[in-house]
Amino acid sequence: MLKNENAVVVFSGGQDSTTCLFWAKKTFAEVHAVTFDYGQRHKLEIECAKSIAEELGVQHTVLDMSLLNQLAPNALTRDDIEITHEEGELPSTFVEGRNLLFLSFAAILAKGIGARHIVTGVCETDFSGYPDCRDTFIKSLDVTLNLAMDYPFVIHTPLMWLDKAETWALADELNAFDFVRERTLTCYNGVIGDGCGECPACQLRRAGLDKYVSERKAAL
Ligand SMILES: [Zn+2]
Repeated sequence: MLKNENAVVVFSGGQDSTTCLFWAKKTFAEVHAVTFDYGQRHKLEIECAKSIAEELGVQHTVLDMSLLNQLAPNALTRDDIEITHEEGELPSTFVEGRNLLFLSFAAILAKGIGARHIVTGVCETDFSGYPDCRDTFIKSLDVTLNLAMDYPFVIHTPLMWLDKAETWALADELNAFDFVRERTLTCYNGVIGDGCGECPACQLRRAGLDKYVSERKAAL
């Protein structure tokens, strides 16, 4: 049924949203990716998203969200603030309410192009304190967007209950394991693929990858 319908994917060029892009391509008739440019520390992130979208043959829109830099100066958007992640605290890369804003803009774009499905890679399993990654928030926003625009949006969160290893498994199921591993950018230091290996994003990604690869070997 969904094969007759179109979707917009919130897409950063990272592991999670690229896996979502593959999932959406398999699920929907046509897929449109949207990337938010909010003055990321690495412009490479935008370039990486562009080249992936092009290679996968999906339409791609980059929206200027540089106003976020005005609202929430933090380590991802300001070069002069170091990335830190203290135990039990929100990482300094946190932009307050980011998913609320991104999904709202994605919805406006979606309605404009006649798509009612919105796909996002948010995940509650590795919940790192981002309140707008929680399933309850997504369900609430879905209702709000339907009311706000009088349009039957459905927000899809294929990664919501997956841990990082299971996200790799999903990529593999979608025949996208190597692509996701080699082409996506998760690293805070702007190193594509397996990354710098040192930053918190690389460590999280690597732990999930190692777990999945060892499980896969055990299963053979
Ligand atoms: Zn890194």
